[in-house]
Amino acid sequence: MELRIFQKGFNFSQDGPGNRLVYHLQGCNLRCPWCSNPEGLSLQGGVSCSIDEIVAEVLRSRAMFFDGGGVTLTGGEVCMQFSAAAQLLDRLYYEGINTCIETNGTSPRLPELFPVLDLLIMDIKHHDPQKHKAVTGVSCLQTYRNITAALAAKQPLALRIPLIGGFNASVEDAAAFAKLLKQLGVPGKATLELLPYHEYGRAKYDSLGMEYTMGENAHVSAAQVAAFARCLKDEGITLIHT
Ligand code: SF4
Repeated sequence: MELRIFQKGFNFSQDGPGNRLVYHLQGCNLRCPWCSNPEGLSLQGGVSCSIDEIVAEVLRSRAMFFDGGGVTLTGGEVCMQFSAAAQLLDRLYYEGINTCIETNGTSPRLPELFPVLDLLIMDIKHHDPQKHKAVTGVSCLQTYRNITAALAAKQPLALRIPLIGGFNASVEDAAAFAKLLKQLGVPGKATLELLPYHEYGRAKYDSLGMEYTMGENAHVSAAQVAAFARCLKDEGITLIHT
């Protein structure tokens, strides 16, 4: 079995705990206009690696996984290559490697991975599934279901909200997120991080012949982030910064 990968490398504490070997898997079912990895959206492209090759590479890298590190699969969207990703996580978990994935949470199969995941990092991009669908192309109702399933399974869970001006970053949005997160039972059971909009991927769009459609209003100021965070903290939601 093979995985298509468009990027890999070590990263400290950004994509899970400690020093981690991070594999970016090709393919995503969403089309977020702010995506910083447009080269990873298609299921084609990247390089094809066998599970055996990746496991061997990880085992050779064991000494690098300091401070609780390990392997993170991210994307793109990990669940687009579900069977191969599941097989890789299973092999790594039973080799004693700390495992983590970053996901948009829209796959109904996600709970199948919980038994072999030390940490699940999941985006929650909007409190309104229709607005989520209008902008990304897919509803986020399944993401909410997967949050509920993760909490019920006591799956360690780190949620992230990408804060995008004009989409989800107002104080009204913060209040709606707080209400939703409480309904889902998140306070005290999962961490939450705010990821303010950035343009790191912008130059890639030109080189790929793709149009970058985000305007100036997508930026969020430090004051907006602080106001958003205050609203969530007031509701008992723990915010972390990695
Ligand atoms: S879910 Fe992530 S990888 Fe997929 S389009 Fe959105 S930002 Fe890009």
